[in-house]
Amino acid sequence: MYHKESDPFYHSKAWLVLADARKQADSYLCCDCMERKKAGGYGRVRDAEVVHHVIPRSERPDLELDIDNLRSLCKICHNRRHPEKGGNPARVPQPTPRARVIKI
Ligand SMILES: [Zn+2]
Ligand SMILES: [Zn+2]
Repeated sequence: MYHKESDPFYHSKAWLVLADARKQADSYLCCDCMERKKAGGYGRVRDAEVVHHVIPRSERPDLELDIDNLRSLCKICHNRRHPEKGGNPARVPQPTPRARVIKI
């Protein structure tokens, strides 16, 4: 289940307050970017733009307002966590085709 803008849940006061608290706790930075950086990864840590449910609301609606079930993410990392969205399918980078030198 992904974040539907039309879902009244995402406009509820309780959610907006909680989502902001989550972002504040994460210094308004994307957690996935931070982890990638910590692991010695490339790129910069982007700002958190979306607050994501780790366990989707469709599975655990009782955790929809549990701050521990939330994760601050940038849009790019968020899309990665929602391959079902279709907008950004988890594309495995293809190795660049290289002309093979065949030695005879
Ligand atoms: Zn990110
Ligand atoms: Zn999400």
